[in-house]
Amino acid sequence: MTFPDTSTASALSAADEVNSLLASYPDFPLDGIVFRDLNPVFANAAAFRAMIDALVGRFQGRFDAVAGIEARGFLLAAAIGYAADVAVLAVRKGGKLPGAVLTEEYDLEYGSARLELELGQLPAGSRVLIVDDVLATGGTIAATMRLIERAGYALTGVGVVLELEELDGRSRLGNADVHAIVAL
Ligand code: AMP
Repeated sequence: MTFPDTSTASALSAADEVNSLLASYPDFPLDGIVFRDLNPVFANAAAFRAMIDALVGRFQGRFDAVAGIEARGFLLAAAIGYAADVAVLAVRKGGKLPGAVLTEEYDLEYGSARLELELGQLPAGSRVLIVDDVLATGGTIAATMRLIERAGYALTGVGVVLELEELDGRSRLGNADVHAIVAL
């Protein structure tokens, strides 16, 4: 099955779906944070399909695996992996993975955290697409990029549903090929 690169043309419909469905909650979970809730996008079948098709189409044929970041990134990665017929990696919060794991500490828009990747999941040099719901300060995705690199994989790029431009997360991602369906 092939997916057209809908990142420009019909990605408008994915962007329209996201724009019309996303909800914003001021002062959640802390004062001063505007929380962007994408659950209504995931809960709409047409919007979910448009979102997955847009991300797959944008990176079509350029990745052997998709890495989803816990927890909302898992929802995207599972669907993208199935649609693109590629492997799926789970990048988990600290302390949840057994065996040999790589660990990266990172800063959040609110607080700090730890992400981990289990070693030995893919052949060395595998091309990996990282996906998550929101690119905010970029700390989470930057940490995931370091995990992918340390594991010996090649980064294809980064796909997110929503980029919060005022936080300038992109500047923490070097020259990675970053695609956001919607930027606010
Ligand atoms: P960051 O590391 O700052 O780019 O944060 C990215 C992660 O935190 C994403 O996985 C988001 O789920 C979550 N996040 C950060 N800021 C927000 C926000 N304003 N609204 C919704 N989710 C957010």
